[in-house]
Order: sequence, then structure tokens, then C-alpha cells
Amino acid sequence: MDFTLSPEIEDYRQRVRQFVDHNILPLEQDAASFDAHENIREDLLSSVRQQAKEAGLWAFQLPKAYGGLDVGVVGMAALYEEMNRSIFGPACFNAAAPDDGNMMLLAKQGTEAQKARWMMPIVEGKVRSSFVMTEPHPGSGSDPAGMMLTRAEKRGDKWVINGHKWFITGAEGAKHFILIARTSDHPRKGLTAFMFHADQPGWHIQRRIPIMGPEEHGGHCELIFDGLEIDDADRLMAVGDGLKATQIRLGTARLTHCMRWLGLAKRSMEIANDYVSNRQAFGSPLGQRESVQHAMGKIAMDIQVGRLLVMNAAWKLDQGDFARKEVSMAKIAVADTLHNAVDTAIQLNGARGYSKDTVLEWIYRYARQAKLVDGASEVHKMVLSGFYNAEGNDFWRWGL
Ligand SMILES: Cc1cc2nc3c(=O)[nH]c(=O)nc-3n(C[C@H](O)[C@H](O)[C@H](O)COP(=O)(O)OP(=O)(O)OC[C@H]3O[C@@H](n4cnc5c(N)ncnc54)[C@H](O)[C@@H]3O)c2cc1C
Repeated sequence: MDFTLSPEIEDYRQRVRQFVDHNILPLEQDAASFDAHENIREDLLSSVRQQAKEAGLWAFQLPKAYGGLDVGVVGMAALYEEMNRSIFGPACFNAAAPDDGNMMLLAKQGTEAQKARWMMPIVEGKVRSSFVMTEPHPGSGSDPAGMMLTRAEKRGDKWVINGHKWFITGAEGAKHFILIARTSDHPRKGLTAFMFHADQPGWHIQRRIPIMGPEEHGGHCELIFDGLEIDDADRLMAVGDGLKATQIRLGTARLTHCMRWLGLAKRSMEIANDYVSNRQAFGSPLGQRESVQHAMGKIAMDIQVGRLLVMNAAWKLDQGDFARKEVSMAKIAVADTLHNAVDTAIQLNGARGYSKDTVLEWIYRYARQAKLVDGASEVHKMVLSGFYNAEGNDFWRWGL
């Protein structure tokens, strides 16, 4: 097994690192760069995005035919980690959720006409998008196939949507939406995916949900659908393929979360290391204390465990496998690693760690969502147990 990055990916990785150093980190260090929801201001984001495009560091995840750099999932793992050395990084390279997963799903499953209409404006950075699945109680959350209540009813060549969704990232300000709705009561084939535009009537944002952490642009919103009409031409994949679309999207999208979170975990460690190397207590630098070394060594190891899980899953996805158990393992482990890394970094920074003088408190509040989004950790453990029951010792087979 050779984990060496290809010269092309390594070149991109170094260029992303330099770009983050020179073009993004200085913004992050200036309080004036933040919007009201603790993310990079829209005007600054547009200008950095333009710089990233001009530097040839744009849309790594997409095929070249659609303006991307086609680095594969293994390449993305190396590059996304570098991007998220800055909390602003992924948005600046058009690699943030949910646009990232939406573009990849449309690239894989859209017709050419759908790609031109719905995907290319996201690729070019002209619009942002949302993925609309989760519903408040008693609707679907962890169990979309069993519990989805939002319905799409066929009338002529249109579908009429009625229902209630929430926690839809980016909805305020997004123009393109991918919606999952119920089209039948079939247990596996009951859901269907559709695209709609923000300007279509028959839906509205009820509220932007206040959350504990910093927000992605457009927030996390609650949406009401009361008669939205969608042309059948804007249906993604076949009727009944909504769950499949979700799995195709989330397979890679979940893993890209892990790639980004590893970048944030490494950044946390970098800030902690800087502090314990320079801060003195009881006559020596903190970094010379064995308990501090244990804490730093543990985070370093956990980050590498996470990277190996991510790379294994990435390699499988590049081979055309769904990598369901590998993605689940990475998601559980890296969510925990991000938590532990930033928590330890705050502890090692003392009172400074609790202040807003570093990005640690930002990362700490952001990190809490990692165990929830795109499947709670418990649900991924349930999936793994299902695989183990079905495969026995073959659970750990080598290869695909
Ligand atoms: C910041 C953020 C952004 C999000 N963005 C989007 C988005 O853009 N689009 C979208 O559609 N959704 C989005 N979501 C929703 C997210 O995908 C759901 O929160 C997630 O799938 C869990 O669903 P739920 O919240 O309804 O939890 P529930 O299904 O109500 O579960 C609650 C808890 O019960 C436990 N649990 C559930 N199932 C099991 C089980 N089988 N065994 C043991 N314990 C279990 C878990 O601890 C879980 O956290 C977002 C959520 C957050 C927090």
C-alpha cells in the first residue's frame, strides 16, 4: 500500500497551503472580516473566490468537462484538509457543504440539460444551493425512508409539493435546491429527488434557526412547502430513486466533512503546540511536561487514525464502491477526533483558549454539529453492526 500523493496532487496541496497562508488566514485574523453569523463577509468571500479561480485552485471535486480539476476522492482528501486549516477555507475554494455534495450528485446523476441548468451556475460560483431532506417531528430525521411526510403529487407533467422541512443549510440566499419528497409509500422506493429555484412560488422560509455555533452562509432554515409546482423535467433520477440519490450524495459528502474536520483538528493542534512551546510554568515550557506531551501525542495519533480511515474510504469511492461502512467509520471517528482535538487545545491554551483571541472557541462551537449532521454517530454505529452481522469476519476483508 502506497500512501504517497501523486506529484499533481502534491503540487495542488502545496499551492492550496500557500493560498490559505497568504490570502485567507490574514482575513481570519481580522474581526472586521466576519459577518453577523460568524462566517467570512460575502464581499470578501467573492473577492477571495475570484483569486482562487485565477490561481487555478477551483472546483477540485468535479470532472474537467465541467470546469473542475478532477482530482478524485483521494486527491480531495489531501486538499480539503489543507483548505480547512482556515475556518474560511472551504467556502473560498467552492468546496463547502452543501454546494460541494450537490455539485457532485448533479455531476454523477443529472442529465446534460440538468447539469447545464442546475449544476453549472454552482460550479461557476454564481449561485449557492441547498439540500432539502430533514423534517421536524413527526417527520423524517435519522430515518428518511420510513418517516418522510413531505409529499410530491403528480398532476399532469408537474409535481405539487406540500410539507415542512428544517435545518436546511444555506437556504437563505440559495438559488438552487435539491428536494427529497415522498412519492409513494414503498419502503425503499417511496422517495424522489427534485430540483427547484428559489424564485418559484409555493414555498417560503419560516425562520433561520438560531444555533449554538457559527453558521454557514445562508444559515440553517425551516421551510414550508404549500403547493410548490415542479416540472417533471426537474426530477433528478427516476421516480422512487430519492433514497438512492441521498446515498450517492451523502457517501462522498459525509467523507468531505471528515476531510474538512481533520483540517480543523490539525489547526487546533497547531495553535496548542505554538502555545505550549512558548508558555512557561513552574520553570519550564509547558510542552516539556509529560502530561502535555501525552495530550499532544494522543491528538496527533487520533488525527492520523482519522486520515487513514478517510483515505481508505476515499480509495474505495474512487474504485466505484459505495464504501458505506468505511464512510460510517470515518464519520464516527473524525467527529470525535475534532471534538477531542479542539477541547484539548483549549485546555492547553488555558484562559486564552476560552477567549476569542484564537479560532479555538469558534471551532469548538462548530464541532458540536459533527456528531449529528449527515447521520448521528449512533446511526452510523447501527449501520456498522448491520454490516458485521451480515459479513462476519469478512467485515475486515482487504480490498474492495
Ligand atoms: C448544523 C446542521 C446542519 C444540517 N444541515 C442539513 C441540510 O442541509 N439538509 C438536511 O436535510 N438536513 C440537515 N441537517 C439535519 C441532519 O441531517 C439531522 O439532524 C440528522 O440526520 C439527525 O436527524 P434528527 O435531527 O431528526 O435526529 P433524530 O432522528 O430525531 O434523532 C435524535 C437522536 O437520537 C439518536 N438516534 C437516532 N437514531 C438512532 C438509532 N437508530 N440508534 C440509537 N440512537 C439513535 C441520535 O443520538 C440522534 O442524534 C443538519 C443538521 C445540523 C445540526
